[in-house]
Amino acid sequence: MLGAIEAGGTKFVCAVGDEHGNIHERAVFPTTTPEETMAHVIDFFRPHRIEAIGIGSFGPIDLRPDSPTYGYITSTPKQAWANFDFVGAMKRHFPVPIGFDTDVNAAALGEQRWGAARGLDSCLYMTVGTGIGVGAIVEGRLLHGLLHPEMGHILVRRHPDDTFAGVCPYHGDCLEGMASGPAIERRWGKKGAELADRHEVWELEAFYLAQAITNYILVLSPKKVITGGGVMKQTHVLPLVRRHVQKWLGGYIRHEAILEKIDEYIVPPALGDNAGVAGALALAAVANE
Ligand code: ADP
Ligand code: ZN
Repeated sequence: MLGAIEAGGTKFVCAVGDEHGNIHERAVFPTTTPEETMAHVIDFFRPHRIEAIGIGSFGPIDLRPDSPTYGYITSTPKQAWANFDFVGAMKRHFPVPIGFDTDVNAAALGEQRWGAARGLDSCLYMTVGTGIGVGAIVEGRLLHGLLHPEMGHILVRRHPDDTFAGVCPYHGDCLEGMASGPAIERRWGKKGAELADRHEVWELEAFYLAQAITNYILVLSPKKVITGGGVMKQTHVLPLVRRHVQKWLGGYIRHEAILEKIDEYIVPPALGDNAGVAGALALAAVANE
């Protein structure tokens, strides 16, 4: 039996399951303080004979294996969780192999093993929600680096009619600052879910998301792009994004995936809202190998 934790800024999704991605039991806890939330998590796993645990976490997190703060959530704006030793807290109760990565890298891995990118050695998983995050598998491996990629904060070209300052506390008008759920709410004065019939909202949203995806395609050449998160529940956005990506690329990338089959190239998660927790299960399976 494997344990999985999708640790998000608003909720933790925990599951026990197997190495084939089957989820046997699942529970959701609100993200409050580490003391409170982790007590729920530990109670959830305690009755099970867990062989390994996978954690896909909000960040930034420390993934450098030789770092003294490996396994920590580091400089998050969620004060209570800053410098929290996540892997250490789990190890104290469950002395088993623990896989640890970003929430979006976990989701990318889940979709690659059991979802929309099955059989491919590269893919991107992009979430557009409270923040914007992107996980990547490149040449069969989860992409890490100096720390880990932060593709939600790339700089985007402003729409000529757009005067919105952006909401990113670090960069103002980076992608997350211009196109996250909170950016939509601040710009238009209503939550995204209440703006469904306002075409101009989603046209502008697609303008920014497509620029970002265009840049990811140019840099990483992924074989599949998967887009999830609350904002993408507006299912009319994805077709607009695809058209804008084709326009930005301008016919330069001469591959049928982009020129003819873009509907099969930029897609929603096949695992739906379970992409993250299934991915954490995949991290557990990898840690146990
Ligand atoms: P989180 O990013 O916190 O894990 P979500 O992916 O659900 O959670 O993202 C929440 C954000 O998505 C909020 O800003 C919310 O307004 C927005 N959102 C949620 N549902 C919808 C919807 N149906 N249409 C548009 N925006 C939505
Ligand atoms: Zn930013």
